[in-house]
Amino acid sequence: MEFVKNQIVTLTIEDMGTNGEGVGRVDGFTLFIKDAVIGDVIEAKILKLKKNYGYARIEKILEPGKDRVEPVCPVARQCGGCSLQHLSYEKQLEWKFDKVKNCLERIGGLEHIEEKMEPVYGMEDPYYYRNKAQFPVGTDRNGQLITGFYAGRTHSIVENTHCCIQAKINQQILEMVMEYCHRNHITAYDEKNHKGVLRHILTRVGFQTGEIMVCLIVNGGKKKLVNLGQLVDDLKAISGMTSITLNINKEKTNRILGDKIISIWGQDYITDYIGNVKYQISPLSFYQVNPAQTEVLYGKALEYANLQGEETVWDLYCGIGTISLFLAQKAKKVYGVEIIPQAIEDARQNAKINGFDNVEFFVGKAEEVLPREYEKHGVYADVIVVDPPRKGCDETLLDTIVTMAPKRVVYVSCDPATLARDVKILGEKGYQVEKVSVVDQFGHTSHVESVVLMSRKDK
Ligand code: SAH
Repeated sequence: MEFVKNQIVTLTIEDMGTNGEGVGRVDGFTLFIKDAVIGDVIEAKILKLKKNYGYARIEKILEPGKDRVEPVCPVARQCGGCSLQHLSYEKQLEWKFDKVKNCLERIGGLEHIEEKMEPVYGMEDPYYYRNKAQFPVGTDRNGQLITGFYAGRTHSIVENTHCCIQAKINQQILEMVMEYCHRNHITAYDEKNHKGVLRHILTRVGFQTGEIMVCLIVNGGKKKLVNLGQLVDDLKAISGMTSITLNINKEKTNRILGDKIISIWGQDYITDYIGNVKYQISPLSFYQVNPAQTEVLYGKALEYANLQGEETVWDLYCGIGTISLFLAQKAKKVYGVEIIPQAIEDARQNAKINGFDNVEFFVGKAEEVLPREYEKHGVYADVIVVDPPRKGCDETLLDTIVTMAPKRVVYVSCDPATLARDVKILGEKGYQVEKVSVVDQFGHTSHVESVVLMSRKDK
């Protein structure tokens, strides 16, 4: 059968794609359909055709699949944030578990891996879990200032001040900022002509400490926000308000934050805890967005590292040293390596405020620093932890790890496909998988985090 764009077809969803979209077939031709779940019988409109597959949109649900649920958020379908809210949370977890399992089997070449996998660690409450939000500011069709989140793959804003995966306090903060802007005729930044003032509203909340940060990202200096004192008076009345700042971003760029922070009220940072470790977080710092599940994830990394107090540990791709400091609680010595200098400054500061003197940080590429330190100084490791970005580890790094021959390698991953690729390489060079756990850090999205413990086969 020949298909054409805009054609309406009827089909049953049989599978889920890598991004959580529904997958179904019409006369053997595969269609990917956003927001469709397995078992749905739907009428769909074809949006885009490729040679062997196409994309379509749900027009009408004729029969809902058994795991379909009503999204809690009224704009879940338009908003680019959540992609799985229409699927029951249990099924989301099952799908994430299967995704890791399938990658390890197919890409990693590991048979019966399920026997090594722990049951998936889901969230107790998969709502209101994020501690950081960056709301873009724009205008609606009538020129009214609005805020919310971008629709999928675009920069058009879906108006919303109550995001049900963000901290609840955001709604009050956003309403205060919008009110202030309306009253004082503060304009929204317009990307097209590089005019207007307010670009984004950044909020962060310390879930353990209750401390709140508001940072307004502005195209220009403080003078652009007339009567700012009115807004500050409103905001500082919110219980827990600790830090109000401006971030100056005058660039024509997609980057949200500029480099300069101006203090407005309170401190320039908030503090929070993951487990017993304290962190100082500034508007520019990287910090895990789901603190409750981060504790679970890093707790697993620590458990898998199995430290008795005498070990030397390397934490590669260490960011602000979150895992390094977690490990430092139990290790003799921890070395962290990270490419971003600012993150290492935060890591050192965090080590200091927690009183850890058994950690040392290096700025640089893991695949350069580790071989260099090994060749020049003959550094040693009992355990190596890696937490690379999506693209996984560089092969030079994996080779150095193998040469250094630590007893255990703990691989924390945000992409099961590159995890499986790297696990396969380490497998061919003498390491075997002992345990795998999948921890849900990002409920209602298709992101999957996992931790794998590998040990030397000859040990
Ligand atoms: N474990 C960290 C975050 C890891 S995210 C934490 O919990 O905070 C991956 C990190 O790897 C990022 O901070 C990124 O800046 C860093 N990175 C990316 N490529 C790198 C490389 N080649 N060498 C070292 N670090 C790198």
